[in-house]
Amino acid sequence: MIDLRSDTVTKPTPLMRKAMFEAEVGDDVYREDPTVLELERKAAEFLGKEAALFVTSGTMGNLCCVMVHCWTRGQEILVGDKSHIYFYEQGGVSQLAGVHSRAVSTKPDGTFDLKELQEKIRKGDDAHQPYTGLICLENTHNVCGGVALPLDYITEVCRLAKSYNIPVHMDGARIVNAAVCFGRPVKELLKDCDSVSMCLSKGLGAPVGSVVGGSKSFIEKVLRCRKVLGGGMRQSGILAAAGIVALDVMTKRIEEDHRHASLLSSAISLQNLEKIQVDRPSSWTTNMVLLNFPDSNFNSNKFIQRLMEVSDQEKKDLGAEIRVKVSRRSEDKVRCVLHADVLLDDVNAVITKITYIIKELE
Ligand SMILES: *Cc1c(COP(=O)(O)O)cnc(C)c1O
Repeated sequence: MIDLRSDTVTKPTPLMRKAMFEAEVGDDVYREDPTVLELERKAAEFLGKEAALFVTSGTMGNLCCVMVHCWTRGQEILVGDKSHIYFYEQGGVSQLAGVHSRAVSTKPDGTFDLKELQEKIRKGDDAHQPYTGLICLENTHNVCGGVALPLDYITEVCRLAKSYNIPVHMDGARIVNAAVCFGRPVKELLKDCDSVSMCLSKGLGAPVGSVVGGSKSFIEKVLRCRKVLGGGMRQSGILAAAGIVALDVMTKRIEEDHRHASLLSSAISLQNLEKIQVDRPSSWTTNMVLLNFPDSNFNSNKFIQRLMEVSDQEKKDLGAEIRVKVSRRSEDKVRCVLHADVLLDDVNAVITKITYIIKELE
């Protein structure tokens, strides 16, 4: 069984388990857990920010950042209509933080039209309207297929935001994938952003947690928000120990996932099929492969089901039972995510399986 549903399925590595076992701990609500403090120091350096805080999840990281940026009443964030914050976080910013979301259309490459973005900024001169308190970006962009946003674009958005005195938050759940894609350090991609939230528990393989980065005074407020949301953890050095391995070790192998993704996508697109097509929204793809199913007789549900089955004939032909899990995005789209627990042999097995299914279709 090869699981390509998400990079969240990665399990802690033996090195992580050892670090967790040996971690020195203390009560982190008293800020006395040395391992958490070490992770936060390393994360701040890695993100190029003054300070960082360990939080339970990316969702909590984003929510805390929105809460801090929009500290007073009557505020609104500008956020992509296909972004995780807008789409997959239960509207937490309105449900829990009292902040209104205004959606900006997302282009297939994960970027905004800057004219539209500028037009949507409230100028603060009309009592009918909320204040624009924050602009949110996402890198890499999940729904758009793990595409990386280039530095030029981020710089332009931040320049625009600055001219209106509005901060920019980066949902950098997979910012390492973006940095690796461009061959640049993470901190360079984040230099103009006021805050960032990065997942340790996805491609970096940690069992739990994210880190938030920002200025020292910003992170002090994030700590208050984390507490009120129930994220004040105690001997969380057990978890932070794995996060340290994620930063020190796992960031260095992300390129392998990108190579595997490109191997998979070229193996499928080379077959030049009508029924299964690789979706390439930009040249900056990372660890995801989106597949389109334009023929409704062979839609995403059928493909997903077929990947999980092994016929007797197939077992004989391939000499193995290959089962693959992928995630359904819509009627005509599935997502495959490459990650640390998928080795080159697994990628080749997936290609063998899909090639077999393609032959069957013909
Ligand atoms: C996964 C993800 C999150 C949220 O992370 P959780 O740890 O699952 O809460 C936020 N943003 C993006 C882009 C993500 O892919």
